[in-house]
Amino acid sequence: MSTLLYTHPACLEHDPGDHHPESPARLRAVLEALDESAFPRLERREAPEAAIEDLCWVHPRQHVERLLRAVPKSGHVGIDADTIMSPRSGEAALRAAGAVVAAVDSVIAREADNAFCAVRPPGHHAEPERAMGFCLFNNIAVGALHARAAHGLNRIAVIDFDVHHGNGTQAAFETDDRLFYASTHQYPLYPGTGAASETGVGNVVNVPLRPMSGSSQFRTGMSTRILPALDDFRPELVMISAGFDGHRRDPLAQLMLDEDDYGWITERLIEIACRHAGGRLVSALEGGYDLSALGASVAAHVRVLMSV
Ligand SMILES: [Zn+2]
Repeated sequence: MSTLLYTHPACLEHDPGDHHPESPARLRAVLEALDESAFPRLERREAPEAAIEDLCWVHPRQHVERLLRAVPKSGHVGIDADTIMSPRSGEAALRAAGAVVAAVDSVIAREADNAFCAVRPPGHHAEPERAMGFCLFNNIAVGALHARAAHGLNRIAVIDFDVHHGNGTQAAFETDDRLFYASTHQYPLYPGTGAASETGVGNVVNVPLRPMSGSSQFRTGMSTRILPALDDFRPELVMISAGFDGHRRDPLAQLMLDEDDYGWITERLIEIACRHAGGRLVSALEGGYDLSALGASVAAHVRVLMSV
């Protein structure tokens, strides 16, 4: 049984500016935590650039072209107060989405059981027609819709345990009952969506958690709401928006999770992937802003992926 790691040096070169929490140092911390000596059996692969056609499963072509045209030749361009592009942001965004697409292809081709995409910019806030919240393209949604278009999968699920609600993924999925989106997130918090009453066409499960919620509230929400609904959905591919900013040390939010919680949810999601999807699982990095907590949490997540 095997796990692939998709990443690319261009993802280190997307630079939203000094003092921005979504810094290249995040990805360096992730790659250090996953380094060859600690994870010798992790097969490392270079992420390709996503094809424009794949991005267009989620984002209108005009929006994709407008965003790529806005990438500056020098300096920075702000899309909003938080979402900022530098000269290398276009390639980084294409590699981030391309990593998830390639991971989907590899897992479906049985080159590995599962894959983790160590990429930035993150994706889950990017709505079909709006880049926001540090996110340019919605990497995980692009991968999910590629799995349908290129491989004919019928039921694809994204589970999002980032501390923020994945408004972009929900927006891309909420009217399509062959897609499933479920999220635990601190609430209220940016971006303001993710109330329990937001259920799409019965294919969206939101479990908002109050600030200071910890392991027990997180595991209860997963065990009683999300995992049973995911099991009922019988996904042919399980995808994870793996944000680690719910960690107790994270500076951007106030949940109290730790590495063990990420290991625990990874095990539960593998069980469901094995039950319905032949074990096929693709995970992509979203948030996580305390560098040591991020490294330790990613290591816990990938260790479980590899233990299948
Ligand atoms: Zn987040």
